[in-house]
Amino acid sequence: MRAIVVNEFGEPEVMKVQERPDPVPGPDQVLVEVHATGVNPVDIYIRSGKYGRLPQLPYTPGTDAAGVVRSGPGFEPGARVYLAGSLTGTCAELALCAPEQVHPLPESTSFEQGAGLYVPYGTAYRALFLRAHARPGETVLVHGASGGVGQAAVQWARAAGLTVLGTASTEPGLDLVRRLGAHHVFNHAAPGYLDELRALRPNLILEMLANVNLENDLSLLAPRGRVVVIGSRGKIEIDPRWTMTGDLTLLGLSLANASPEEMGQIHAAIRAGLECAILSPVVGKTFSLEEAPAAHRAVMQGGAFGKVVLRTTSSPARC
Ligand code: NAP
Repeated sequence: MRAIVVNEFGEPEVMKVQERPDPVPGPDQVLVEVHATGVNPVDIYIRSGKYGRLPQLPYTPGTDAAGVVRSGPGFEPGARVYLAGSLTGTCAELALCAPEQVHPLPESTSFEQGAGLYVPYGTAYRALFLRAHARPGETVLVHGASGGVGQAAVQWARAAGLTVLGTASTEPGLDLVRRLGAHHVFNHAAPGYLDELRALRPNLILEMLANVNLENDLSLLAPRGRVVVIGSRGKIEIDPRWTMTGDLTLLGLSLANASPEEMGQIHAAIRAGLECAILSPVVGKTFSLEEAPAAHRAVMQGGAFGKVVLRTTSSPARC
């Protein structure tokens, strides 16, 4: 099989496509033919060696993917599935998985869309409903709504009856956020956008770049508001008095901390959301496995527009 192999941490070019032996499944393992795999920011942090938990070298990157089952207990060969991780890395034509990492993918969802499900939609669901206990009628600000987690949060929140405010920094991104269901959109690169937001007094903020926005977030929230820190790329000074005067709650989140029970809820909700057409992942840019370095650069350069996805098969018609 073809797979990306990383022999050293560093620049995107450390990702090399190589011929590797096909993985051989054990009795309790599922072998999946991967058709598409999503690129998440964490893949970039890991590949560059700047992450708390690094894999042993050499490794094959990738957590999110979609494809069909080749063999494994509990699955018909050919069954369409999305992956929530794997044992061998998803940037490859084949991935070996534990059964709990493999989930049904409805016919109506393409493999490319399925490659952007687990981390973005799982994170957004956990933030909104399991950490912040979002309620219908509340107002949520998705601060960074044009990327993978943001688009998922907008769709979940709109369907759950919240008033949704979303931000992006480009016209295509703002248009996407509006089309996904946000009631109001704001450009987080425009001067003065916070003044407009302050008038709308969100009860809840999902924050994708806390090192830039956290202090402002605390000043925007309605009394008893909550902010969930999903992404942060550095330090920030905040005035803790904001939390006192407004009875505010600051919540952190890592998808990796989800309990098995929460994981069950997340996957049940994703499945129902896809089947009922509440969720429809938007794929912004697609690349081949060989173009993985360009895909990693695309994720980090801003101007997000949905998910960045790698096609692992040479036949686009299968995606
Ligand atoms: P992504 O697809 O690259 O999207 C990044 C988003 O952040 C885009 O909407 C981008 O908007 C927005 N952004 C950029 N500058 C911003 C600013 N100054 N203020 C507000 N938003 C800004 O990434 P993602 O997959 O959605 O992930 C978002 C963040 O969450 C990343 O830092 C990621 O590492 C983190 N994350 C954490 C977890 C967890 O378990 N805690 C899980 C998944 C992701 P424009 O490009 O339009 O400017």
